[in-house]
Amino acid sequence: MSGIYIHIPFCKQACHYCDFHFSTSMKKKDEMVLALVKEMELRKNEFQNEIIETIYFGGGTPSVLSIDDIRFLIDAVYKHYQVVENPEITLEANPDDLDNEIILQYANSPINRLSIGVQSFFEDDLQLMNRAHNSAEAKKCLEFATQHFDNISIDLIYGMPNMSNEKWLQNIETALSFNIPHISSYALTVEPKTALHKMIKSGSIPALDDDLAQQHFHILIDKLQENGFVHYELSNFGKPDYFSKNNTAYWLGKKYIGIGPSAHSYNGKNRSWNIANNSLYLKAIAENKLPSETEILSKTDQYNEYIMTGLRTFWGVSLERIETEFGADYLNYLLQQSEKYISDNLLEIENNVLKTTKKGKFLSDGIASDLFMLN
Ligand code: SF4
Repeated sequence: MSGIYIHIPFCKQACHYCDFHFSTSMKKKDEMVLALVKEMELRKNEFQNEIIETIYFGGGTPSVLSIDDIRFLIDAVYKHYQVVENPEITLEANPDDLDNEIILQYANSPINRLSIGVQSFFEDDLQLMNRAHNSAEAKKCLEFATQHFDNISIDLIYGMPNMSNEKWLQNIETALSFNIPHISSYALTVEPKTALHKMIKSGSIPALDDDLAQQHFHILIDKLQENGFVHYELSNFGKPDYFSKNNTAYWLGKKYIGIGPSAHSYNGKNRSWNIANNSLYLKAIAENKLPSETEILSKTDQYNEYIMTGLRTFWGVSLERIETEFGADYLNYLLQQSEKYISDNLLEIENNVLKTTKKGKFLSDGIASDLFMLN
């Protein structure tokens, strides 16, 4: 089973913290939709023996596309790949695009999961992030969307400068009041070359506080677990039966094909990624060329990836899998590197599975990098 990811590289405006690939010029939108379909056609043989289980529209902002464009892309997936009977079809959408009419159009289409970029219910946070929507739009779209979709996820950002624990808790409680079954929540991070980076450097806003982000993270876990959510991945919480199938497949190392500028693909052995430039992508596709680079993953790369994703999830890292797939040397190295984290109560081994403890969860990426094998 595999997934297909379709990257829609357009946004109405640039959020201050974002380093994803997108353009704020919509001029090439129609040309892009045709190119995405053509890329699927050019790559139809890559996944010939695979069955597509999930279709994911990410970005950028997929909700800038018309419903006809989205249907056209879904039809192309069905035309060029084998698809299971009821695939999970997720569309990332921003609240400013989601008026009642659009939500109804989505509900009457094959889309069966919405991932809505709310980020915060507070006006000042949204302005600081330079989001295109306001708090009223976020609430209004959730009120209507929950009447037509049962599978909804929202994104929330914590660790904002000056965000008190009380304010963060209020954000979570507002989210819970809509009775949605999935929440993805990320700590605000400062990526190089973003507006946020410049603002912090110039002193116009305070630097981010790691301790505050960690407090927010623990408030989030406690509050969501109290309300029946399973913390199944570092940044993801779902009610049972509502985990993201698309992302779970990715974390469990299944194959996926990424279509569109900057999209990544994984075929079980190689990872490849398309050029993160709309014009160069369009030019290459028009010439029937695939604008991608490929990296062959060594055994060590595969071990490192498994450690990184495994520690982020509640499935953890299976020591048996490490031994059978990578060998005794890797297992011994892992156990040796893990020792100090186990004695500091940041990692634990349960039923032959290595996992982060509640205390270690927030630090899982840093711990994982210390367990990596060097090439
Ligand atoms: S809408 Fe999403 S992809 Fe676009 S700039 Fe904002 S965070 Fe980035």
